[in-house]
Amino acid sequence: MSDWLTPGLAHLWLPYTQMQTAPAPLPVVAAQGSRLRLADGRELIDGISSWWTACHGYNHPHIRAAVEQQLAVLPHVMFAGLVHEPAARLAQRLAALLPGDLERVFFTESGSVAVEVALKMAVQYWRNKGQAAKQRIVYFRHAYHGDTFATMALCDPEEGMHTLFAGTMPDQIMAELPTDQNLRRAFDLLLETHGERVAAVIVEPLVQGAGGMQMHDAATLACVAEACARHKVLLIADEIMTGFGRTGRMFACAEADVVPDIVCLSKALTGGTLPLAATVARRHVFEAFLADDPAAALMHGPTYMANALACAAANASLDLFESEPRLAQVAAIEAQLAAELAPCRALAGVAAVRVKGAIGAVELSCQPGGRIDLDAMRRRFAELGVWVRPFGKVVYLMPPFVITAAELATLTAALRQVLGERAARL
Ligand SMILES: *Cc1c(COP(=O)(O)O)cnc(C)c1O
Repeated sequence: MSDWLTPGLAHLWLPYTQMQTAPAPLPVVAAQGSRLRLADGRELIDGISSWWTACHGYNHPHIRAAVEQQLAVLPHVMFAGLVHEPAARLAQRLAALLPGDLERVFFTESGSVAVEVALKMAVQYWRNKGQAAKQRIVYFRHAYHGDTFATMALCDPEEGMHTLFAGTMPDQIMAELPTDQNLRRAFDLLLETHGERVAAVIVEPLVQGAGGMQMHDAATLACVAEACARHKVLLIADEIMTGFGRTGRMFACAEADVVPDIVCLSKALTGGTLPLAATVARRHVFEAFLADDPAAALMHGPTYMANALACAAANASLDLFESEPRLAQVAAIEAQLAAELAPCRALAGVAAVRVKGAIGAVELSCQPGGRIDLDAMRRRFAELGVWVRPFGKVVYLMPPFVITAAELATLTAALRQVLGERAARL
């Protein structure tokens, strides 16, 4: 056994974890492709790509080489008054990949902060244009946009942390996604009523992730964009989870031909190797910050922004989208997930099965007052040799795009087995 585990665990505080009752975390010593190697020599097939980041699998030689090369030259330098090649190249490449004139890239180190920067951009955009009353943000039910205070206020009020921190968060406006005619009218009315106070609408395009893997179609997304344009409200697309191929296109917005005013990226940006995020603005947003007045500038600057190692990793990750057939792999994963998760619909305790791109989600139902024993399910998955970590009411798979058909079949079989065992107990 590892000599670091027990003494170290006495000092670690793990995320989203009831430290009194949760099973001990598994010690990982290496990762390769779609597999995690544990200290006792066991291997787990990874069904969730380390919170949806490791799209090329672990330890890809091309990314490793790029990071090693950068490490030898310039791992980091502050990013005010100084710039460096990896960031400049990455900004140019992101601008070329994103639709329309999304062309100004502000780098940060986490998704939540990328969203915070987008919020600041939106509010200050209107202030710089003499419309300082436009400060509110509209978000959608089931949304998840991060764990910091400003972003918590934009998460689903029931699935998020609103009740825990009630009174400490900015008061924002929740809407329903306009998925039908009535909801379209309601969304339109909401923007008409509050438009003068609203800076932006924020949406996770096509798939709402951590709020429950809810999916909507391109027409709904197009409707959101159209209403924003009509009511003079900025549209922020949070593509932190959906970006870089996860839904089948490089960016989910492209499926609806939508060009948001601001896009947030992170998670798969570096292929799961180093922390990096980006907030990308359209030309007209950037231009609203240009003035003789220093106070009109964007006032933000994380210490480690645009870290050179992380930018090198991101450039290498983009190389792989060019040199390896990632989007074709996503299409194959989508077809396999759809076929192999479909039988779950017949199981007791299953409310819905949803698949989009390389995302497969099974939503569970439970008796009123009943509880879904997530820890027991997680333990069972590990026993079956797979790394799957259900949350809330959802058991989901978001594998690396390089996963083999056989590995994916092992994941879906484990899912059917664990949900079958649960159904037998209901
Ligand atoms: C993960 C995620 C975030 C937050 O990113 P962190 O890096 O965890 O701060 C924000 N929005 C979406 C859609 C996410 O999936």
